[in-house]
Amino acid sequence: MSRVLVLNSGSSSVKYRLFDGAQTLAKGLIERIGESGGEVPDHRAALQGIMDEIDLAGLAAVGHRVVHGGADFTAPTVIDDQVVARVEALVPLAPLHNPAALTGIEVARKLLPEVPQVAVFDTAFHATIPPEGVVWAIDKSLAEQWQIRRYGFHGTSHAYVSRRTAEVLGRDPAGTNVITLHLGNGASACAVQGGRSVATSMGMSPLPGLVMGTRSGDIDPTVIFHLHRVAGLPLDEIEDSLTRHAGLLGLTGANDLRTVLERRAAGDADATLAFDVYCRRIREYVGAYLAVLGRVDAITFTAGVGENSPAVRAASLSGLEPLGIAVDPARNERREEIISPPGTRIPVCVIPTDEELEIADQSREALSLPR
Ligand code: AMP
Repeated sequence: MSRVLVLNSGSSSVKYRLFDGAQTLAKGLIERIGESGGEVPDHRAALQGIMDEIDLAGLAAVGHRVVHGGADFTAPTVIDDQVVARVEALVPLAPLHNPAALTGIEVARKLLPEVPQVAVFDTAFHATIPPEGVVWAIDKSLAEQWQIRRYGFHGTSHAYVSRRTAEVLGRDPAGTNVITLHLGNGASACAVQGGRSVATSMGMSPLPGLVMGTRSGDIDPTVIFHLHRVAGLPLDEIEDSLTRHAGLLGLTGANDLRTVLERRAAGDADATLAFDVYCRRIREYVGAYLAVLGRVDAITFTAGVGENSPAVRAASLSGLEPLGIAVDPARNERREEIISPPGTRIPVCVIPTDEELEIADQSREALSLPR
């Protein structure tokens, strides 16, 4: 009785995975929902298709990934009408992300009214960041009125990977400090102190911080005023440019790092610069989080780029030997769990993330179900 269905509903896709304990019984992705050429007309049909496909016997919970939990949700939360209303109230904070999760929740509750449902928030892990790490130095009354502060994202991944790092090193997570680098299509860094997030690079939205596939990461906010006032671009267009046409895509025309690496190998100047900007930003955050944590027990790479690109891992930590940080070329190529040379002060790790497994575990925890 510990089967959990994990649903990750996007605006035009639903990803699902059915767990029995830590074992995956079924998984899949339904894409282009409501688009011409897509398989299904809407989220209801997509979820109905998933339910028809999988064996629902013994299903103890449905775990929903919800991107933004605001300041309100600091832990996985069993869903009822009130929780739905609170997540709805957060839509203005996450207009690009939360509506899809709400649709998924609404449809899943209708289709599986007997099964408890849990919302697992990307932001929740960062609720432990101290005030000085989430407050920006802007007019206090504006910030309070409009809920402006850092929230942080990728929380399930940073939580999972930092804990796994401690396990790999044979340490107690509660006494281990880790800098986690989640480098996927979206990317963020996190400083984890004894299992608790104390700093992260994303902010009110998943836009700031590291350079991403299509998102800019950190820029001077003046760029927005300038593009609006001087270039005459409407705000929606600027938002679209910074979130969907920036990052690696903006610098090279390709959002996939594999393409950027191929072009760089062929001597392409744009691709070379994009790679350097990408890796330098990672190094800047590593430096910042070394200073935030003071003592660091490991630096861990994860997600699509972090798990698969030896070039990014090597370049983003190059030149840090005086700080006790190094990457062993052979271990890095082989993608060992520990890629630093023996005896370096701060181990560097590569740990595959598993956000769905973490969501399943947190859903069980919220319902006090056995694993
Ligand atoms: P994710 O969002 O974690 O699925 O990561 C997706 C991204 O990982 C892709 O957009 C690629 O840029 C990157 N990626 C996947 N495989 C590789 C690889 N072998 N080398 C470099 N980058 C990769």
